Amino acid sequence: MNANTSMVTSFRPLAELEVDLLDTWHVLTQVTYRFLVLLREFDLRQGWAEWGSADCADWLNLKCGLSRNTAQEKLRTARAMYDLPQIEAAFKCGDLSYSKVRALSRVATPERETHLLDYALGATAAQVEDYCRRLRNGDRNVSSQDAYRNLGNRSLVRSFRDNGAGCISVELPREDVEIIMQALDHVSSGLPEIDGRSIFARGADALVQMARDVLAGNAGSGVAGDQYQVVVHVEESVLKNEGGESDLPAESVRRICCDASIVALVKNDRGQPLSIGRKQRAVPTAMRRALQARDRSCCFPGCTHDRWVDAHHIRHWVDGGETSLNNLMLLCTHHHRLVHEGGVQIRRRHDGTCYFLGRNRRPVEAHVSARVSAEDGAISSPFSAEEGGGGRDFVGVPAGP
Ligand SMILES: [Zn+2]
Ligand SMILES: [Zn+2]
Repeated sequence: MNANTSMVTSFRPLAELEVDLLDTWHVLTQVTYRFLVLLREFDLRQGWAEWGSADCADWLNLKCGLSRNTAQEKLRTARAMYDLPQIEAAFKCGDLSYSKVRALSRVATPERETHLLDYALGATAAQVEDYCRRLRNGDRNVSSQDAYRNLGNRSLVRSFRDNGAGCISVELPREDVEIIMQALDHVSSGLPEIDGRSIFARGADALVQMARDVLAGNAGSGVAGDQYQVVVHVEESVLKNEGGESDLPAESVRRICCDASIVALVKNDRGQPLSIGRKQRAVPTAMRRALQARDRSCCFPGCTHDRWVDAHHIRHWVDGGETSLNNLMLLCTHHHRLVHEGGVQIRRRHDGTCYFLGRNRRPVEAHVSARVSAEDGAISSPFSAEEGGGGRDFVGVPAGP
């Protein structure tokens, strides 16, 4: 009798099997908890150094066969539990899975630990991960660093398989993925109907068609300005750096709203819309033309990009900055990102001209300066404190070319 036959003949009631399965899962969770506690102590006592490992993640890779990313997540979670006794207790007795603890530990603070634990006990792991991601995005300082890292990690990799197929894999900040998906949807809508073509195959066909259009010089026809839109829902509190939930990192949303079509949406406490404002451009068309005539290209020193430039509010309109030529400057998408998510700051001299401070806090000489009347030292960066109040939601749409 082989193993398979013995499984078939030893059937037992499903309900019993399920109980056994869940009990085992409970034990697994408790064992995972114990592993993290031991790991935390081992790391604190630098046991990994005995083996010549660079750090504890390196040791986990060497001794436990964990990938570096997985190892770092385990370590981060283990360390975070120190300050989260309620979450740790629920994990210890097996009520909270490692997946949930890992997600919670990215956003939990002693102040909101109770609330997060209550939420996590009644939600699925996917819901907990989504909620925590939105909370983290709403925290401007933390998510700015995430956004900057995501930008640094962007990549396009192609690989080829033995069977003749090839694979392109692209990693991008989420809002850029949305732009590509919108372009693909646009191209896809013009493709002929083919029976049995899946949506995945249709997406792939649209990408090839897009490439053909570019190579044939047909690209750029069809879509203009507001016809393509990336819609970002964000609470006003997030824009004002007072926390809350957000689809994208808070500072990325502030950047998109710097030069976008904005619709204000007022909701009641149950999240139902009460009123929807008129769509307004953050920078009116006439002012944008004047700005374009004055700056001509991106204002970052040495940058000559004059296409796909954004009108950046030196003091953000969310923080009370005026939408006036004095408070605006053209920045290319790359430098606009550096100013918002990348920690590059814009400062004013006493004569009103502007200059840039790099991430190293050293000035970068500017070749164009916006004349200003405001006080010296206005800063537009994720690292300055802001204040304000209110309960509106904004829907921001990048203004397009
Ligand atoms: Zn901006
Ligand atoms: Zn630039």
